[in-house]
Amino acid sequence: MRVLKFGGTSVANAQNIKLVLDIINQKSQKEPLVVVVSALSKVTDLLQMAASKAAANDDSFKEIVAEIEKKHLDILKEFIPVSAQSSLLSHVKRIVNHLETLLDGCYLLGELSDRTADTILSFGELLSSFVIAEALKQSNPNSMYKDSRELIKTNNQFGKAAVNFDLSNQLIQSYFSHQNASVVVLPGFIASSTEGIATTLGRGGSDYTAAILASALDASELEIWTDVNGMFTANPKIVKQAQPISNISYQEAMELSHFGAKVLYPPTIQPVLRKNIPIIIKNTFEPEAEGTYISNKEMAQTNPVKGISYIDNIALLTLEGSGMIGVTGSSKRLFEVLSSEHINVIFITQASSEHSICIGILNSDAEKAATAINKVFEVEILQNKIDPCIVESNLCIIALVGENMKNHQGLSGRMFSTLGKNNVNIRAIAQGASERNISAVINERDVKKALNTLHENFFEENTVQLNLFVMGVGNVGEKFIEQIHTQRKFLKDNLKINVRVIALSNSRKMHFDEEGISLKDWKESLQNGETAHIQNFINKAKELNLRNSIFVDITANATVSDVYADFLKQSIAVVTCNKIACSSAYSNYKKLKSLSRQYNAPFLFETNVGAGLPIIDTVKNLIASGDKVHKIQAVLSGSLNFIFNNFDEQNSFHDVVKEAGVQGFTEPDPKIDLSGVDVARKILILIRESGYEMDIEDIENNSFLPAACMETTNNEDFFKSLITHNSHFEGLLKEALEKDSRLKFVAQFENGKASVGLQLIPKDHPFYNLEGKDNIVLFYTDRYVDQPLLIKGAGAGAAVTASGIFADVIRIGNI
Ligand code: ADP
Ligand code: ASP
Ligand code: MG
Repeated sequence: MRVLKFGGTSVANAQNIKLVLDIINQKSQKEPLVVVVSALSKVTDLLQMAASKAAANDDSFKEIVAEIEKKHLDILKEFIPVSAQSSLLSHVKRIVNHLETLLDGCYLLGELSDRTADTILSFGELLSSFVIAEALKQSNPNSMYKDSRELIKTNNQFGKAAVNFDLSNQLIQSYFSHQNASVVVLPGFIASSTEGIATTLGRGGSDYTAAILASALDASELEIWTDVNGMFTANPKIVKQAQPISNISYQEAMELSHFGAKVLYPPTIQPVLRKNIPIIIKNTFEPEAEGTYISNKEMAQTNPVKGISYIDNIALLTLEGSGMIGVTGSSKRLFEVLSSEHINVIFITQASSEHSICIGILNSDAEKAATAINKVFEVEILQNKIDPCIVESNLCIIALVGENMKNHQGLSGRMFSTLGKNNVNIRAIAQGASERNISAVINERDVKKALNTLHENFFEENTVQLNLFVMGVGNVGEKFIEQIHTQRKFLKDNLKINVRVIALSNSRKMHFDEEGISLKDWKESLQNGETAHIQNFINKAKELNLRNSIFVDITANATVSDVYADFLKQSIAVVTCNKIACSSAYSNYKKLKSLSRQYNAPFLFETNVGAGLPIIDTVKNLIASGDKVHKIQAVLSGSLNFIFNNFDEQNSFHDVVKEAGVQGFTEPDPKIDLSGVDVARKILILIRESGYEMDIEDIENNSFLPAACMETTNNEDFFKSLITHNSHFEGLLKEALEKDSRLKFVAQFENGKASVGLQLIPKDHPFYNLEGKDNIVLFYTDRYVDQPLLIKGAGAGAAVTASGIFADVIRIGNI
C-alpha cells in the first residue's frame, strides 16, 4: 500500500488532472493506492475570501461561489462522457448550493465563527475529491471515493484541529480492511470532530491527511506530489539558484518545514516518522525528476548545511527589566499567558543576565500577545521593575538547517559575517543545543538578499554574484559594458564571479532590470528607459536591496560624486573613474573612506590615476605592508604627454593640441588638461593614498600657459590664443632642444611638498623616452631607496580605463 497526495497546483485544472491520473493509473498497477487530494489551486483562498465578504455584508461572495462552481463543472465536462454528465453535474451543483446557503447565513448574521469557517473551507477538498474520483473512475472502474471526515477524528479546535490518533487509526484500519479497490480517493485537509462537525487540519494540511493515512495503514511510502522537483536548498521562488535536496533526514525536513519550507506541512512528518515510512516529494509536472527522499537513513555527509528557510510576518516581543533578574517564574508566567491565548511561539532567546526575554511570534498575534503580557506583569510594570512589552513587527526569521552542522566549527560565524557584509541587520539569534538549526531574526525587507547571499555562500561553490548600477555610458562606459559582455562566461567559469548589470543611466535616461540587463541590446533598453533622475536611481538601488551591489560611476560629474556617501551607507560599494570625490576637500575624502570601512562597502578608484595602470593598488599594498612613501615623481597626463611628444619644429603647439582633441586624448575642454588641474588632482590622490593629509590648494601649479590663454572662456578663443602666443611655446621647445632635453609635464611630491609643472627632462632620465600617451610613476620609499618602484604604460584611453574599472569590480568579487 502506498499513499499519494496531490497538491493544489497539481489538480488546478483538467489538463493538470490528466497528468495526475496518468501517475495514479501507472502506479496502481503495482500496488493498491490511497490518493489524497487538495482543493483546486487557490480555491481555499477563494472560500476564505467569500466567507469574509459574506460576514462583512458584501454580496459579491456570490461571484466567488459562481467561479468555484464553474471550475469544478468544467473538469467534469472534460472527463465524463456527455451521456453520464447530468447526475454528476447536479451533484456538484447541490454541494455548491449547500455552500451558498452557509454563506447566505453568514451574510444575514454578519458574522463568521471559527466553526462555520471550517465548514466553509472544507468545500474546497469536498468538491475537488469528488470530481477527481469521478474522473478516475472513467479509466479505473475499480477505484473508490471516501470522505476523510468519516475516518479522521479531531478535537474541536477549529482552524487547526488536533487529531485523535487512537480513534482515527481504528476507523482507517477498519475501513480499509473491508474493501479491495485498487485506488481510494480521499479529500485532504478536512476531518470531523467526535460530534461529527467538520474541522480542518490547518492551511496546507492535506499533506498531514496523507501522513495520517500512511501511518495508520503502514504504507510502504508516502509520496507528496507538488509543483517543484522536491524540497529545495531554499525556496526556489526566491532563490533562483536553489537545488532540490536528494536525501534528507526527517529531523532536517521537519526543521526546514517548520521554518517556512512550505512544500511540506510541518506536522506531516510526525506520524510517518513513528512508523519509519519514507516520504518522497515529487513533481507532478516532471515525474521523471528524482525528487527528495525523506527518511532516517544515514546520508553520505557532504554539505553540513542542508537548506535555508524563512518565516515572514514575524513580530519580536521583548520583555525586559531589572525585576526579572533572579526572580524565578517570570518565564513561566510569560509562556503560560501565551499558551492560554493560543499564541504559537516560534523563536525564543534570553539574555544571560536574565534581564530580558525575547520571543518571536506571528505579526497577527502581536497585539493580542502584548496586551496579555502587559496584563500579567501589570504589578511589576507599575512598580517600574519591568518595562511594558516592546513589539517590533515586519520581521522575518531565517534559519540554516542541517543535522551535521554540530560537527563543523564556524558555521554561525560564516552565517553572520555573510549577512553583516551585506548590511543585513540581525535583531536576535538562536541556536538550539541540537545544533540542527541556527536562526536569526532580520528585517523583512532584507529577506531576499539574506537568503540569496547565504545560499551563495553555503551552496554555490563560492560563486559570487555582483550587481552593478552603472552611471555614465559614454566612450569609457560603453567599452566597460562591452568588456563585461565578453568576459561574463569566463568570470563565471574560472573565477566563480557572476557579474550582472542591474541599472544603466546616462544624463537623459535610466533603465533597470532586476534579473540583469541583456548586454546584447542594452542601448535600446536604455533608449526606452525612464527619464534619468539621480535620486530615483539611488532609491531604486536601495529598494532592490540586492546583495553585493556596486555603484559604478563612469562620469566626470560632481553631482554624481556627491552621492557616493548615500550608496556606501547602504553597504553598496562604489567604483569610480571620476576624480572629483577623491580630490575634493580632505575631510570629504576621509569621510568616504571611513564610511566604506564602517559599512563594509569597498570604495575603489584605481582609474583616478593612470587609467588602468595598477598605481593606487600598488600604493595601498606598499602602505599596508609597512612601507613609507617619501617621494613621488610622475607624468600623469596622457594628453599632455601626447602633446609634448608631438610638438616639434614641424608641428606647431596649436596644431598638436587640435590633433590631440580630434583623437580624443583631451577633455572636450582642453584647458582642463593644459592648465595642469587634472594632473594636480591625480598627484593629490596619490599623496593621500600614501597616507599624507593634503588639499588641492597645497599643490603648487606652475602653469606653462600664458595668462591670456588661461583667461579665454571658450574653445575657439582658447585655440586662437595658442596661435597668438605661438612664440611662447616655440621658446619652450627651443630651450629644450638646446639643452638636449624633452618637455614633460611632471607631478612631484617630496618633503611634504607637491607641485605640477613643465620640466626639461634630460636624456638619462626615465621620463625621457616616455612615448605616446603613456604615464609613468616613480615611488621612492623606505624599501625602494636608490632605484624607485616604477609603473609605466598607457595612461589614457577608453579601453584601458574601462579595464581598470573592471579590475576594481573583480577586486570586489574576490574580497
Ligand atoms: P501544494 O499545493 O502542492 O501543496 P505548496 O504550494 O503547498 O504546494 O508547496 C510547494 C511550494 O512550496 C513550491 O511551489 C515553493 O514555492 C514553496 N517552497 C518554499 N520553500 C521551499 C523549499 N525549500 N523547497 C521547495 N519548495 C519550497
Ligand atoms: N487546500 C488547503 C489549503 O490551501 C490544504 C492544502 O492544500 O494542503 O490550505
Ligand atoms: Mg502544500
